[in-house]
Amino acid sequence: MAKQQSFADKAAKAAMMRGSKCPKCGEVFQPILMVSSEKSPNKAAWKFSERRVQVCKCNEKQIYA
Ligand SMILES: [Zn+2]
Repeated sequence: MAKQQSFADKAAKAAMMRGSKCPKCGEVFQPILMVSSEKSPNKAAWKFSERRVQVCKCNEKQIYA
């Protein structure tokens, strides 16, 4: 009995680790790393900024376009 419960706990934790679901489409968000480059106005150097984006069916077209 105790074994089953711990397994259920582990499964629930794993599901939470995998990411949250989108309330609109029900897809699990896929975290991706977006790298955008922008030239800073002051310096003649390119600046790279990284940001994590949660992708699901609602916004994948905008992201991958
Ligand atoms: Zn969605």
